[in-house]
Amino acid sequence: MAFKPEKPSIHGETPDSLGARLVEAGHPRYRVAQIFEWLYPRRAGGPDAMTNLPANLRAWLAEQYDFAATDVTGKKTASDVTQKVLQRLRDGSLIETVIIRAPMEGVGQEQSRRTICISTQVGCAYGCKFCASGLEGWKRDLSVGEIVSQLVQVCRIEDQADPIRAAQGLASFDNIVVMGMGEPLANYDNLLAALRIVNAAWGFGFGARRITISTSGVVPKILKLADEELGFRLAISLHGATNEVRNQIMPVNRKFPLEELVPAAKAFARKHGRMLTLEFILIEDINDSLEQARKLAVIARELHAHVNLIPYNKVEGLPWVRPSLTRQDRFVKELRALGVTATLRREKGHDIDAACGQLRLQKEKELRSDPPPAAA
Ligand code: SAH
Ligand code: SF4
Repeated sequence: MAFKPEKPSIHGETPDSLGARLVEAGHPRYRVAQIFEWLYPRRAGGPDAMTNLPANLRAWLAEQYDFAATDVTGKKTASDVTQKVLQRLRDGSLIETVIIRAPMEGVGQEQSRRTICISTQVGCAYGCKFCASGLEGWKRDLSVGEIVSQLVQVCRIEDQADPIRAAQGLASFDNIVVMGMGEPLANYDNLLAALRIVNAAWGFGFGARRITISTSGVVPKILKLADEELGFRLAISLHGATNEVRNQIMPVNRKFPLEELVPAAKAFARKHGRMLTLEFILIEDINDSLEQARKLAVIARELHAHVNLIPYNKVEGLPWVRPSLTRQDRFVKELRALGVTATLRREKGHDIDAACGQLRLQKEKELRSDPPPAAA
């Protein structure tokens, strides 16, 4: 169900939409440029900080708009690799934004890269059997302003941590990955509107080719994304190289099986001339056999895709197990022997860097939990 906040988020506006409202309220349109300068390059926390605006305009902005559609309520750091930022929405829902300060999609680079992983929904309706985000179902889509506000909040955290980088804002990050909670392509319109703000020169000015959208395989939306002018990168969460395995762990595959997904991915790659990423979580005895590796190699070669192997992160209450290091190595070696470029993510931080959605789930359980029953 859609959530209707008391005030719209300022971070959902564009120069056109804000300009129209300003004029309607009797303010000059040229103020738009000043306001956007405060919102993105300077990341002002509210109208009070916008010192070159007249007092009546600042008062109007404060009255009309929400400047904190998402608000940071907690942070958790795992070694020096990832930081999870928990953000609260106006209806009390929780989402996660993750800052990753390490090589992510590897591709052989040595330097550390800085990536922000954002959420697009509260919960997820897709119900993949291994995923914390899908465990409790879908609650709602994030609005445009909430998606953008997540990034503004992360920049503010960085501003405090590193004043030199602060001046650069989002530009000091290498990548944005849309791989947090939710299925991004199921909230297509809001996501695209938000990413246009992130990309725009009057917004964050962040290049589309540094933004990766990850999908579990919503075929019609992959085709739609291929037709967008902005060339985002695409990652497909494959997790199984046959329909049999995908059907077992990803309900979406019953609707869009591999014989539809692979051609859609191919059409996307052809349109944008970019390398796709195939995400593949390794789960013991589900998809970590050599036979799966060989079938995955066929798909990866057909798509000229890079394979990103992710050892399964334990989710409380789910039965799946991460394969041993030996089995993980055997799988990646087989792929490479078959001519596929593959990375095996082995981040140090996986103790708390469990899959996206887990921190939020844990927090929601804490908030809900009744006192434990007295021991019998
Ligand atoms: N819905 C989109 C994007 C969000 S899921 C998608 O499915 O692609 C983000 C990534 O986290 C996906 O690749 C997903 O498969 C992975 N993931 C989910 N649960 C995981 C777990 N327990 N261990 C490791 N990765 C997990
Ligand atoms: Fe949803 Fe992605 Fe989790 Fe599947 S893996 S339940 S699509 S968030």
